[in-house]
Amino acid sequence: MKPKYKRIILKLSGEALAGENGFGIDQDIINNIASEIKKLHEFGTEIAIVIGGGNFWRGRSNDNMDRSTADYMGMLATVINSLGLQDAIENLGLETRVMSAIDMRQIAEPYIRRKAVRHLEKNRIVIFSAGTGNPFFSTDTTASLRAAEIDAEIILLAKKVDGVYDCDPEKNKNALFYDKLSYIDVLNQRLQVMDSTAITLCMDNNIPIHVFGLKDTSNIIKVSCGEKIGTIIS
Ligand code: UDP
Repeated sequence: MKPKYKRIILKLSGEALAGENGFGIDQDIINNIASEIKKLHEFGTEIAIVIGGGNFWRGRSNDNMDRSTADYMGMLATVINSLGLQDAIENLGLETRVMSAIDMRQIAEPYIRRKAVRHLEKNRIVIFSAGTGNPFFSTDTTASLRAAEIDAEIILLAKKVDGVYDCDPEKNKNALFYDKLSYIDVLNQRLQVMDSTAITLCMDNNIPIHVFGLKDTSNIIKVSCGEKIGTIIS
């Protein structure tokens, strides 16, 4: 197998790091993901990672709180996940940097675009934490924004399901699977793949998105080699 891309953004949801109960970090799962990332790194691909925080906290699902406060809590959750993944990857002997969109210099570098690009050029794996640093956004939008900023060729969007369907395949067994979609289809059909801000940003900057299932972690390598699994949005 040969890598198709030189520089990618891998977007992992917070849930991807959790076990069956959907909460917290499962050490076996995170180690598994880390070892697939190592294989991809050995191919020479420059890897930047954006992680969500849904396994700890999601701003939008806490109606009784001030939304901005709840969102800041969500951003902090992404930092916990980023440090967890950093640890798992470094245990395998790779060099990583966690960059944070919110200043917390004791535990992460501040996000500076040029520095991030330099780290990638030096073959360090960069983990973007704290989302965009702004409430009312998501980590999907973070992935789109950072992809545009660092000139990533594609966003590899890891999901619980194996691609995009017209409705939830876990609730409807007749759900229709798409292997290819346009950005505008996703927006018009309100498909639940990324929020509309994230999709629009990709559309405006011509960044393709490859959606795939992370149940089988070896899919990370497969999508990086351009294998036809999951759904491509372009
Ligand atoms: N968040 C935010 N601004 C950002 C990114 C994230 O406010 O730029 C907050 C938001 O509350 C969100 C939470 O962080 O619910 C966790 O991120 P997300 O829901 O995207 O995580 P995922 O669903 O991918 O685990």
